[in-house]
Amino acid sequence: MGGTAGFKRRAAHEGAAWTVQVRVTRGISVLPTRGALVKLQQVSDNCFAVLNEKNRMCDANSGLINLGGGVVIDTQADLAHARRMIELFGKVWPGMPRRVVNTHEDGDHVWGNQLFEGAEIIAHRTVPDRMRHVADPGDARKMIKGADHLLSRLLLKAVHPGALAVARQLQQDYSFDGIEPAYPTTLFDERHVLDLEGTEVHLIYVGPCHQVGDTIVHLPRERVLFAGDVIFRQCAPTGWTGTYQKWIEALDLIIWLDPDVIVPGHGPVCGIEGAMEMKAYLDYVREESKRYFDRGLPSLEASKRIDLGPYGSWRCADRVYTNVERAYREFCHEPVDAPWDTAKTFDAVYRVAKAKGIEIEF
Ligand SMILES: [Zn+2]
Repeated sequence: MGGTAGFKRRAAHEGAAWTVQVRVTRGISVLPTRGALVKLQQVSDNCFAVLNEKNRMCDANSGLINLGGGVVIDTQADLAHARRMIELFGKVWPGMPRRVVNTHEDGDHVWGNQLFEGAEIIAHRTVPDRMRHVADPGDARKMIKGADHLLSRLLLKAVHPGALAVARQLQQDYSFDGIEPAYPTTLFDERHVLDLEGTEVHLIYVGPCHQVGDTIVHLPRERVLFAGDVIFRQCAPTGWTGTYQKWIEALDLIIWLDPDVIVPGHGPVCGIEGAMEMKAYLDYVREESKRYFDRGLPSLEASKRIDLGPYGSWRCADRVYTNVERAYREFCHEPVDAPWDTAKTFDAVYRVAKAKGIEIEF
């Protein structure tokens, strides 16, 4: 990795009419991980990001606050990616970090936890229990094995083409072998503040918006915010257990905090325009969903018909289905924690892609 240099950078971030003063690495380290690409990027004096550039399912980002013994934010979706992340951050840190923050309970943010032996793992109070429900690596292994065996593959293809396609996609970049869940050890309710050599790190609970445990990590002095999956950048978001209202409130809070740099849970680094764009997407999808809901169309049909407009060029644009389905659940006053049938959900995403003639991506 090359040295660092401070320079005025037009907010990397298309369309922004303002500039921010940040320090960015001149050279960017890129390492191959199976088929995927990960890179290290410095985002402020003491903050770094490891970014997964493919930007599909499981391609989550990680953060590093290189102060006070080090804090890693989110630990990747499998051990190979976690090791690459450690290798990349290892170029700038003095030793393995003492703390890990999990921004929420999804596997792609917690499945490298076990490599941070002895570290304090911090998350919202709901996260350990939710991990047991939604981040069982055994389920992910089973899904991939199903795609490996001829008989189950044929069955899957006939019954759940979407589930088969997801398994195939994940197989390209990920292996869930060897993952042993390591649960958060320090739990908080609304807020948790770390003091790292005089630099405050604010962990703020904003869930349930995309998931139950959603937490954002804000460093006012560095003007940096790690958004977890409250922000997906240049790829369609997927929301599971949470509400549109909470999600939009969380985005409003990020805009109000006014950081110079945001590291999203998925996609490239951005400024607050990343939060604004996410909000515009959610507003648009909810409004469009309501039009079709009022006409009595099922959520899958609505998803096929919605004009994706500028969002059609995002990766995984077919994931619009999950957002339409969530809007429908809210219109029907279903409980926020109504379960998802994942195989059915992936099938619906697959059918939306087919209907729209766009790439099938999850
Ligand atoms: Zn994620």
